[in-house]
Amino acid sequence: MTMPQITKIEGAKFIVTVDETRRIIRDGTIVVQDGRIAQIGKLEELSGVAADRVIDAREMVVTPGFVNGHMHISYAHAVRGVFPDDLGADYLPTVFRLQGAMTEEEEYFTSLLGITELLKYGTTCFLDPGSTKYLDACMMAYEESGCRIIVGAQVSDRPNPLNVPVYSTGEAISLMERTIRDYGGSLNGRVRAWAMPFAADYCSRELLEAAKGLADRYETGMTMHQSNGVSSVKAHLEEFGVRPIQYLEDIGVLGPNVLLAHLIGVDTAEIEAMARTQTKGVTCPTAALKSGGGLSVHGMLPEMLAKGVCVCLGTDAGNNSNLIETMRSMYLAAIVYKDSREDTSMVPAETALEMATINGARAFGMEDEIGSIEVGKKADLVLFDTRRPEWRSLHNPVSNLVYNADGRSVHTVMVDGRIVVEDHKPTFVDEWELIQKVQSLGEGLLERVGVSYPSRWPIV
Ligand SMILES: [Zn+2]
Repeated sequence: MTMPQITKIEGAKFIVTVDETRRIIRDGTIVVQDGRIAQIGKLEELSGVAADRVIDAREMVVTPGFVNGHMHISYAHAVRGVFPDDLGADYLPTVFRLQGAMTEEEEYFTSLLGITELLKYGTTCFLDPGSTKYLDACMMAYEESGCRIIVGAQVSDRPNPLNVPVYSTGEAISLMERTIRDYGGSLNGRVRAWAMPFAADYCSRELLEAAKGLADRYETGMTMHQSNGVSSVKAHLEEFGVRPIQYLEDIGVLGPNVLLAHLIGVDTAEIEAMARTQTKGVTCPTAALKSGGGLSVHGMLPEMLAKGVCVCLGTDAGNNSNLIETMRSMYLAAIVYKDSREDTSMVPAETALEMATINGARAFGMEDEIGSIEVGKKADLVLFDTRRPEWRSLHNPVSNLVYNADGRSVHTVMVDGRIVVEDHKPTFVDEWELIQKVQSLGEGLLERVGVSYPSRWPIV
């Protein structure tokens, strides 16, 4: 099937552009040509433009596709919900055991279901922090689904309590480099590849410096887990005698192409180091809150934003946060600090929406391509159907989007101008067939690895 050349999204109730001046266009039309946004304007201005395909958007709110800056895509769906909610960090070694046991087939189908959920609820671009083992097989899932993704090889070269595989420093460096060379820029540029050391505490200084060197040399990015709670900061301080982000600055590993995930327990000096070096951050409230990470007590999102640090949103994996919907993280980012600081001026709705869109694009170094609805950018768009109770009444689309709506109202999703979700359904896969497949793969995987947790309530 050939893609229509010109698609017109006509007469949207509101287009929330997130452009330079943050215009919200009432009764707006978007013209998409060859995968990019060709024109934006009022319905009457663009009514004369002929199109191969016209989408009636009269009761729709259109936003840029959401960006998820930290999302392990490849393994969680098959074993989702299996971990009791009181396990704490004890579940992590089991996660890595399950992940290590996954076959190529299991990883492909599980990734495809994860991507289906992300796209269905409006996330068009996301970063998998290097946990995919069989990238060749999973590239098929990226190709079929049409998602935009950042991949990499997650490496560590120091013994660690999580069962994260330990490589020699040399092996770890060449694996990262090979992955960047082999996958970066594939699928018409929809796939990018970064350096992905797992976490500073599990990597030698040499490996961290090499990862940053690769990001610089290949003009790409680097991400890792960083300060996921007060105890990890304390452990680092005890071992190195300096706070972790200060340590990263000292060894030259901060910079505009570095994205640090989690950031709970950082202090003011560390925030200043991030601001000084233009290092980016990603906060994962869905995961932090469920796992007792101390986000509401120790999180410093308002201070980071005030210092001009670019912070975007993530969800982490489908078996720690259980939620991988970027919109839920957007909602939580907007409300958590209002409550914990007893101050409603914390993280306004507009800021939360910026975090989910344009900040994500900046964190990925892709702000010229995605993150807002502007002429020349990629047509990565989400159409929300507002003919639903949770959307009404509708006066301020940003407020409704952040506080009332969620992925259920996502009607149509476009990536690179290709419609990947239409009338709430993925266009690239038989969803129910895929769900059944992943259910049976998950049951097989749990049995093979010998993981089970009894239900607290009798299942009869
Ligand atoms: Zn993670």
